[in-house]
Amino acid sequence: MNTTHLIRIASLGATVPCTEGQTILDAVREAGYEMPFSCNSGVCASCKGRVVAGRVNPGAAGDHTLTAEEIAHGAVLFCQARPLTDIEIEPRQIEKTDTDARRQIDAKVMRIDFLAPDVARLKLRFPAGEKVKFRAGQYLKVMLPDGQSRSFSMANPPHQNDGAELHIRLLDGGVFSQRLTQELKVGDLLPVELPHGDFYVREESDAPIVMLASGTGFAPIKSMVEDGLRKGQPREIIIYWGARTEKDLYLLDLARGWGEQSGLHFVPVLSEPDASWAGRTGLVHHAVLQDHDSLADKHVYACGAPVMVSAARSDFISNHGLPPDAFFCDAFVVAKPRSPALAC
Ligand SMILES: Cc1cc2nc3c(=O)[nH]c(=O)nc-3n(C[C@H](O)[C@H](O)[C@H](O)COP(=O)(O)OP(=O)(O)OC[C@H]3O[C@@H](n4cnc5c(N)ncnc54)[C@H](O)[C@@H]3O)c2cc1C
Repeated sequence: MNTTHLIRIASLGATVPCTEGQTILDAVREAGYEMPFSCNSGVCASCKGRVVAGRVNPGAAGDHTLTAEEIAHGAVLFCQARPLTDIEIEPRQIEKTDTDARRQIDAKVMRIDFLAPDVARLKLRFPAGEKVKFRAGQYLKVMLPDGQSRSFSMANPPHQNDGAELHIRLLDGGVFSQRLTQELKVGDLLPVELPHGDFYVREESDAPIVMLASGTGFAPIKSMVEDGLRKGQPREIIIYWGARTEKDLYLLDLARGWGEQSGLHFVPVLSEPDASWAGRTGLVHHAVLQDHDSLADKHVYACGAPVMVSAARSDFISNHGLPPDAFFCDAFVVAKPRSPALAC
């Protein structure tokens, strides 16, 4: 390994090496530490933190994701920023990797069904006796034979910890999408690694919650809501679920049922409804803006298409008073292909 710069983590009194061109996130993780991160593409801002000494190339993505005030105070996205000198960082959270907590296991395919023409539900069962601890909202990685992986959020709540339910948007030409529809069958073993991610409900707060999902972004929201219902959580929650047409709201009756529980409200929103739709229309994050003059006292949990997550973050923070640290998200970016044709 060719160390070019050192990264000092003040809160731990530790220093880790960084090689030429490596991001801060990759260097810190390679050295055996965990910090929050999710999309690894500069969209979700889970990895936001501060550089308090030294110089970095922050990458362009932060310009859209961080506020001018945050940037002025040294905020960067650790998944994008690369050191130009030795630096000192202040992550929002960091700890030594707990290698016992995250596991790779061979899960058995129990069921594959189709919730919409382009959404499959994959139910996996872990080997007998294996229970995996995860938080509602986190995701797993399906490991592919060539060493790549694909990320999918658990739709089941954490107390159902002997398996996983995944809601998978089927992408034309997608490697795992094709395998799921053409090869995978009940009884097959699928290697998965879990848990991953920083998208989970901050239970220490009592702020009212706005959840918004587009498409299969509904999966982690389902896990969070079912977990909250089981725990009898007391906070007010409004759930917005956006899609193009009614059939794309693939578990609409289930979500409507939540809306009948006290403290929970459910708002479906269609961008391309047909004439029979009597509900809300337009973009899902616009529905949130229409319903709330201010989001200053809320926590927002947003999940799904990167374009929705980015627009929601920007509009909620810039125009509706949401504090930047009250926006939590997972952006469903597609995996970075290995093919040189798509590498950028
Ligand atoms: C934290 C996280 C959680 C997620 N959770 C979910 C979830 O719960 N449900 C869900 O549906 N999605 C989720 N996603 C998104 C999902 O991981 C991606 O969409 C994933 O890439 C799909 O895998 P795939 O193998 O089917 O498609 P991929 O093989 O990754 O292909 C994606 C797209 O790129 C195109 N493509 C691939 N390779 C090439 C190439 N060489 N040249 C040209 N085009 C190419 C494909 O045609 C396809 O349209 C999540 C993503 C993240 C980051």
